[in-house]
Amino acid sequence: MIIIFDSEATSEQIHEIMDHVRNLDLTPYRSEGNKQDLIGIIGDTDKIGSNLQSHPAVKELVQTDRDYKLASRDFQSQDTAISLPHTTVGSDQPTIMAGPCAIESYEQTVSTARHVKEHGATLLRGGAYKPRTSPYSFQGLGEEGLEILQQVKNEVDISIVTEVMSPDNVNLVNQVADVFQIGSRNMQNFPLLKEVGKTDTPILLKRAMSGTLREFLLAAEYILREGNREVMLCERGIKTFQNATRNTLDLSAVPVLQEKTHLPVIIDPSHASGNNTYVPALAKGAVAAGADGLLVEVHPDPPSARCDGEQSLTFEQFKTLIPEIQAHASVSADTGM
Ligand code: PEP
Ligand code: MN
Repeated sequence: MIIIFDSEATSEQIHEIMDHVRNLDLTPYRSEGNKQDLIGIIGDTDKIGSNLQSHPAVKELVQTDRDYKLASRDFQSQDTAISLPHTTVGSDQPTIMAGPCAIESYEQTVSTARHVKEHGATLLRGGAYKPRTSPYSFQGLGEEGLEILQQVKNEVDISIVTEVMSPDNVNLVNQVADVFQIGSRNMQNFPLLKEVGKTDTPILLKRAMSGTLREFLLAAEYILREGNREVMLCERGIKTFQNATRNTLDLSAVPVLQEKTHLPVIIDPSHASGNNTYVPALAKGAVAAGADGLLVEVHPDPPSARCDGEQSLTFEQFKTLIPEIQAHASVSADTGM
């Protein structure tokens, strides 16, 4: 349920109603991104009864049957914008996050960070902890990888998005991450979602490869409920019957999510295609469709990458792509997409 307050409602009246809701053992969430003052209530809202409708401070009681609430546009009509040290995600220009799949060495990381920053990325991506399908594949450098990220962050002055895979590691990864990445395989790792939800570090939540958009939004809801409102949703390709590409980019996720939620939508064309020759087309399509940003894999020498080399752009490919992205972003702004 959503309670929309009258424009004349005083803050005492609003607090009085919030206390009333709490006394019924329900949790009220105040929305701040709206022109209207409102609270969302989660739980068995039948207890509230309709007599609240006649309270002088209440303009309207809206029953919503959506099972995600804080993520929905009913709760917050205005887009969420997330301020990071070098960019705002959810502004006019798409945010570019780029870098290797995995942190492999200081040299590999620093050279990539310098290159992607010079050509328009404001975040360096790269995993110190890698969720690999096979237990025999490279699992990431772990703490050594985090130390490399910290050193490169200081030297290059770029923000860091890096994956956290377990609740126990949230504090450690938080020391270097400007944005936590929650990988596809962990979209429904509920203890992990709750743990990052307790921090105030922004989160890039990747869609599970077989996750519906409803499940995706409910995963975001787990984080929002804990108090962290800075969640970006990242579509990274889903499993379908076709096998010409690693996954299938679900570009419809951009307009559908933007209709249903106020959270920024990011596209990862690298995991979607699995092939660096297809990445530029998907990246341009994503920004033309109105995505708020891109997560792109880039490596100084893709054939030697320890992880996801086939889908990593070379430095030259990345440099060529960025001006094309900017042209497509202005197409989406002109058409109001
Ligand atoms: C990654 O970004 O390198 C990654 C492992 O992505 P996903 O979780 O989408 O597979
Ligand atoms: Mn990868």
